[in-house]
Amino acid sequence: MSRRPLIAANWKMHGTLESVQAYLETLVRRVPVAGPEVVLCPPFTLLPAAVMIASGSEVAIGAQNCHWEDKGAFTGEVAPTMLADLGIHWVIVGHSERRQYFGESDQTAAARAQAAQRAGLEVIFCLGETLEQREAGETMAVLERQSAVLAGLDPSHLAIAYEPVWAIGTGRTATTMQAQEAHAALRRRLAGLFGTEAAAALRILYGGSVKPDNAAVQLAQPDVDGALVGGASLDLEGFCAIIHAAPGGRRGAEE
Ligand code: PEP
Repeated sequence: MSRRPLIAANWKMHGTLESVQAYLETLVRRVPVAGPEVVLCPPFTLLPAAVMIASGSEVAIGAQNCHWEDKGAFTGEVAPTMLADLGIHWVIVGHSERRQYFGESDQTAAARAQAAQRAGLEVIFCLGETLEQREAGETMAVLERQSAVLAGLDPSHLAIAYEPVWAIGTGRTATTMQAQEAHAALRRRLAGLFGTEAAAALRILYGGSVKPDNAAVQLAQPDVDGALVGGASLDLEGFCAIIHAAPGGRRGAEE
């Protein structure tokens, strides 16, 4: 049982056809062989071009959201089957910006993740506490509640992103101790949901103002298996530096 580090870029609502082309053409050449798994999640409009450019490379392409139905009268939504049809391998679900601005709940996030897995996609499921919740000492209770809905998912096609809301886009990152404490608690929780072996194989990414200068220390924590990178992933050099900060190869239960 082992965990290959996973470094995912969340471009949010940024990027143009020209920028994704230039970025990916270089990124595919810079990803180290036998290094971490690398996923780029640009906006929906850039997915076809990204899939084409990354085809045959070590870089996988992901979407930032998907609907919970495969088709139907859901104007403006994108079905996970449509993403799979396009050659997409990953999808981010339950991001705090979806929870904060678009009414995402634990239940809708779970429904999206289940539909994504049914369509054959790998899911990055995001969770994390707000500043008020942390200051009220509720972090572990929040993580317990948010992770309860994971029970219906297949752990072998799942990665968790622990993203404290107060650290996203703020420049304020969790300390390595805060991150490791939350990740270890989540892994215990996942062991309760899926069993010890599955939990030991599941990757838990840290997200929240990861930058080239703090990536290495976060990624060195025993239960931090990668990073979900927002702002810093828009800069190719910065994102490459974060990829190179990840410990090479695999680690996990056999260590
Ligand atoms: C994110 O969007 O998931 C994120 C962690 O953003 P940032 O790195 O900008 O904090």
